[in-house]
Amino acid sequence: MEYVAGVVDSVRKWFKGPDTPITLPGWNYETYREYLLAISRGRDYLLPIEDYPSQIELSSVWHDSFNQIRDLPHEGWVLIGYQDGQRRLVMPRVAEKGLSHSVPSEVMSAGINRAILKAGISDYVGDIHSHPRGLTRLGNDSAFSVGDIYGLLDSLSEQRPSDPRRSGIFVAEGNENIAAFGTRGSLERVRNSPLGSYEDFATKWYSRYQWTFISTSPTTGEIAEATTPHSPKIWTINKGIAHHYQLSLYKGLANGFLLRDHPARIIM
Ligand SMILES: [Zn+2]
Repeated sequence: MEYVAGVVDSVRKWFKGPDTPITLPGWNYETYREYLLAISRGRDYLLPIEDYPSQIELSSVWHDSFNQIRDLPHEGWVLIGYQDGQRRLVMPRVAEKGLSHSVPSEVMSAGINRAILKAGISDYVGDIHSHPRGLTRLGNDSAFSVGDIYGLLDSLSEQRPSDPRRSGIFVAEGNENIAAFGTRGSLERVRNSPLGSYEDFATKWYSRYQWTFISTSPTTGEIAEATTPHSPKIWTINKGIAHHYQLSLYKGLANGFLLRDHPARIIM
């Protein structure tokens, strides 16, 4: 965190003077990793939304994790863990296997327990899952389901020391990777006004964009957001929720940088 804060401060002074919010040009992988390690120690280290960089470099381990689940016929799930003593991020080599439209919470719990026992992780700071190609019910572009974003906001609203400190979610879908990060402003939002139930949340956000929310897939009976592709696209709904809750959203091509899409990048 000291390192990230140092980067933020020096860039800010360089461009605009000490108190002016600016858009950082980008983070290399080391900066990004330092930031994740910092926020795994406590959510108070979360940056304000204006300090999230316009692009983020990922490492080959990250790309391997995205790519190993990208083309599966079912959803895959990879935990991003944190080893307290070692100050290391850990991502298991083998993904957990979900269903065609979801990763059941029991599968995640089993994966977390395995990572605690076998890899010695002390906490869980984020996760990557896949949306199988061809099975996506969300339209043509990669996007989070409203349930994915609700899950992140729900994690951010947890405040007990024993709660997992998950502050970011990632999806591999088609040829793209997407990411959503909580910010300091997101914490204030979820702590000041309770989220309510998932069903109410999803119904509210889908209907705001003229989509119909159905909580169960009519073909498999599986819990899923079985919405019909519609206009505007689901990513537009993602951005609407992100604006309300001050989440930072990124999109990028497989094996490439994550590029900030909300708030929109400023080309410098
Ligand atoms: Zn999802």
